[in-house]
Amino acid sequence: MPDTSVITNSSRDTSADLVILGGGSGGYACALRAAQLGLTVVLVEKDKLGGTCLHRGCIPTKALLQAAEVADTARHSLQFGVKTALDGIDMAGVNKYKDGVVAKMFKGLQGLVSSRGIDYVEGTGRFVAPNAVDVDGQRYTGRHVVLATGSYARTLPGLEIGGRFITSDQALNLDYVPDRVVVLGGGVIGVEFASVWRSFGAEVTVVEALPRLVPAEDDFCSKQLERAFRRRGIMFKTAARVTGATQSESGVTVSLESGEQLEADLLLVAVGRGPNTAEAGYSEAGVRMERGFVLTDDRLHTNLAGVYALGDIVPGFQLAHRGFAQGIFLAEEIAGRKPSTIDEDGIPRVTYCEPQVASVGLTEAQARQRYGEVETITYDLAGNGKSVILQTRGAIKLVRATNGPVVGVHMVGDRVGELVGEAQLIVNWEAYPDDVAALVHAHPTQNEALGEAHLALAGKPLHAHG
Ligand SMILES: Cc1cc2nc3c(=O)[nH]c(=O)nc-3n(C[C@H](O)[C@H](O)[C@H](O)COP(=O)(O)OP(=O)(O)OC[C@H]3O[C@@H](n4cnc5c(N)ncnc54)[C@H](O)[C@@H]3O)c2cc1C
Repeated sequence: MPDTSVITNSSRDTSADLVILGGGSGGYACALRAAQLGLTVVLVEKDKLGGTCLHRGCIPTKALLQAAEVADTARHSLQFGVKTALDGIDMAGVNKYKDGVVAKMFKGLQGLVSSRGIDYVEGTGRFVAPNAVDVDGQRYTGRHVVLATGSYARTLPGLEIGGRFITSDQALNLDYVPDRVVVLGGGVIGVEFASVWRSFGAEVTVVEALPRLVPAEDDFCSKQLERAFRRRGIMFKTAARVTGATQSESGVTVSLESGEQLEADLLLVAVGRGPNTAEAGYSEAGVRMERGFVLTDDRLHTNLAGVYALGDIVPGFQLAHRGFAQGIFLAEEIAGRKPSTIDEDGIPRVTYCEPQVASVGLTEAQARQRYGEVETITYDLAGNGKSVILQTRGAIKLVRATNGPVVGVHMVGDRVGELVGEAQLIVNWEAYPDDVAALVHAHPTQNEALGEAHLALAGKPLHAHG
């Protein structure tokens, strides 16, 4: 039996209302809100404040995708009647721009944490009891402890990362554009890198074991994305399993179950992220876990009194904004504010490849399971003036419980990530198609496409056939 008794404070110890283990999106959001609410906070981080999202995730990948968009704009400018020539990609310049963005955000975040009076501790922490974390021989006790140690890039058995086998961590810091890449995994991270490298001029093949790209999305999104990737010359193999891979000085060879072999310069392994929990002492201290993830109730309490968990170590969407929301929730929970629980279905998701995929709420299949009867409508962006101006293709699909509210919005096209803000209000406020149809959308915007989709679902389509 693990010893789950609390530790009493000794004169060497540092005590606070709250000790947070991990300074990523979830951990630092919790620290900032808790300090705002007057709690004393110790925030323990072994690497860099900001965690995966700021240093190895959201921010640097989106900077690369921005550079990729600039390359595509230059490449295709003639369709707008503008003559430019794409001379090539200067990876040193791209990395300088990307690192500059990260550095600026990092500095801002460090300033924020220090200005809120948070006790920031650098070092590797170990959870040793429900009220105590040890960091390099120093004990920090707290009335409450939040576990927030995040995630790492997983690989497959027998596929050791190193050399030409890379994960997103190495892919973000390449100082050259590969000629050919195999991307193992057609989820969010895989298709984002596939998109960047294609825009930078590489030949890219995505291999996905499930039958479609972005398999967590509604299959409408997968079909739209696959069509767009074909147009862009991004190759992909779905329902395809990798049986092995080898590397040499000159390249990699990836073997598929079908017997086919793919040759490339690099293999990006993007098969998901595992929870960072093995070394932090959780299971030894009695935290209930499953497959390495920390189990919580819907208020993010673990099985140990006074101990909570959030972010990528808790089963659910591994997204930075989920971590932020959970961090704020927990700070308020601990301060006794009784916040409302977070509705996981209402968390928006954006995949920032070209074209983008954005969604909120239930897929059609999930909605059918939950409600039985559903209605859907698909609005083609060909009917939306702004999308035609941008020369993008794509569509919006709405899912509605029959005679009920809109429960899912699924979008594919350039910049549709920016539409997810309105889409999430619709889903989370349980709007009916008529409610949204009555709202006047500015013309010509892409938001108008959301308005038109709801007009169509309300039975009064405007710029839509059929
Ligand atoms: C390539 C990539 C792109 C992504 N893009 C997006 C995106 O566009 N949008 C989005 O919403 N999400 C994106 N994500 C996911 C997002 O980064 C994560 O969901 C988010 O960072 C999770 O936050 P977290 O606080 O749970 O963990 P993390 O951000 O991983 O932070 C955990 C922190 O804990 C620290 N830590 C771990 N163990 C210890 C210990 N023992 N002691 C002290 N400190 C410790 C780590 O150093 C780390 O800083 C992306 C991820 C990747 C990899």
